[in-house]
Amino acid sequence: MTAFLDARSLPAGTSLTPDLAIVGGGPAGIALALSLADSGHDILLLESGGRAFDSLTQAMYRGSESGISYVALDSGRLRFLGGSSNHWGGWCRPLDAIDFERRDWIPASGWPFGIEELKPYFPRAQELVEAGPWLYDSAAPELAAAGTVLPLAPGGIYTSWFQFSKTRDSVLPTYFGHRYGDDLKRAAKITPLLHANVTALRLAPGGAHVQRLDVATLTGNHLTVTPRFTVLACGAMENARLLLASNDVIKPGIGNQNDLVGRYFADHPTPREVATLVLFDGGLAPFYVNNTPLKNGAIVLAALSPHAQFARSQRVAGSLTTVENPVELDELGTAAVVATSQALGVDASNAKAWSLGCGMELMPDPDRRLTLTGEKDALGLPRLKLEMRISDADFAQYRRTLVELGRQLLAARLGMVRINPHDPHQAMDWGNHHLGTTRMSEDPKNGVVDAQARVHGVDNLYVAGSSVFPTYGSSNPTMNLIALTLRLGDHLKKAMA
Ligand SMILES: Cc1cc2nc3c(=O)[nH]c(=O)nc-3n(C[C@H](O)[C@H](O)[C@H](O)COP(=O)(O)OP(=O)(O)OC[C@H]3O[C@@H](n4cnc5c(N)ncnc54)[C@H](O)[C@@H]3O)c2cc1C
Repeated sequence: MTAFLDARSLPAGTSLTPDLAIVGGGPAGIALALSLADSGHDILLLESGGRAFDSLTQAMYRGSESGISYVALDSGRLRFLGGSSNHWGGWCRPLDAIDFERRDWIPASGWPFGIEELKPYFPRAQELVEAGPWLYDSAAPELAAAGTVLPLAPGGIYTSWFQFSKTRDSVLPTYFGHRYGDDLKRAAKITPLLHANVTALRLAPGGAHVQRLDVATLTGNHLTVTPRFTVLACGAMENARLLLASNDVIKPGIGNQNDLVGRYFADHPTPREVATLVLFDGGLAPFYVNNTPLKNGAIVLAALSPHAQFARSQRVAGSLTTVENPVELDELGTAAVVATSQALGVDASNAKAWSLGCGMELMPDPDRRLTLTGEKDALGLPRLKLEMRISDADFAQYRRTLVELGRQLLAARLGMVRINPHDPHQAMDWGNHHLGTTRMSEDPKNGVVDAQARVHGVDNLYVAGSSVFPTYGSSNPTMNLIALTLRLGDHLKKAMA
């Protein structure tokens, strides 16, 4: 077993020449390295942090913000081996087929390929996040044994499923650095290099080829890496930052000839208490309320999601509505339940209510963006500024989904939904799902990377992670970005051959 290398203790000026340099040791970087472990190529995995949190390294993630209130740039991500998986929640769900489509009511939407491209990689991605057997949207007997799915009347909303990542020995999610550290060390052709901050990508004259990477440590050591191929896997904020800051040959930054790097940033807003769900008979299966372990080892939670057909006809974006907490109805709510149940002729004497929350897909917005500032971090890299925005249209679309849920409950004489007005400018939770800053498109005018995740115009530079998602869906990104990264691994095997 080889040890991790520490960039701080390599001789100053060391020059490394791997076949592939992977910049960033989070879920994307680790999944990619492991997928290429037996490819016969020398893989260098450069990770800024060590194996544990360190405040000086983390401070390089600091940045500033304008627009609506958002998570501080150094709070919503972690800078050490395993990346943000060191505090992720482990929620997993594949993207839906419609997320890949060009939706004419969603500007700049659509991927260069459909979900079929990712399907072959989902089983391994699911294995890496350790979320158990693949049950999403299935009618598996284990789900049926755990309770009854809400018998909504036919319509636009259906019960879909989250699954949860867990380590083998506990219910904590899989922390990639911790879980796969030994696998990285065991792989003869992978060299994991810790405390190695890539500070610049140096292009050859002409700008079509990455010649070398500058690497620095916080202790003042400097190294160079001259790889045949490079993959940026630093998370969606830092991928954009490194491209923008590497601007000595291409002035607007690498891949930024069309002013797209850092634009279209997105996250999933998770507004709470968006509505109240009332069920007249008070019966709700436990898997709607709590993460529920099944006999086959999976842990599931039900969510209410719009069908593709409904999304198309009603022109709504993706959303995953979840049941939050039991709530007491106020007088007005009680009166509404009495009046509605009487009108329907159903007994509501055992009615119960729950608050609903959701994870929403945002419209792509080029002005929701990351830019460089004049302020620098400890290694001289310009810090980021985020302009965060959300539009009333995002909420208006989601309200149409809630209205449909209410209609289906009434039509089934099951219950009702009371929608709460939501002010987008009030404090809101976020998924910390950073998306979209190096979007994928076959047309360089619309995307930073092509359908293989290669940066347009640079023959040996690729980007891994959710920064390449051109439209976002409402699913949690990590299992999906791993599937996409495994697909990139297959491409690189051929490219490096
Ligand atoms: C609180 C929280 C909860 C979350 N919950 C969920 C969830 O339930 N489900 C879900 O799907 N997702 C969740 N996420 C998001 C999830 O963590 C990310 O999608 C995932 O970690 C992204 O993986 P990545 O490898 O692309 O990037 P990262 O995890 O950000 O990893 C990037 C790596 O690159 C390294 N790096 C950065 N800059 C450099 C540099 N210049 N040189 C060298 N190395 C560098 C970093 O140290 C880091 O290790 C959550 C995130 C947070 C913060």
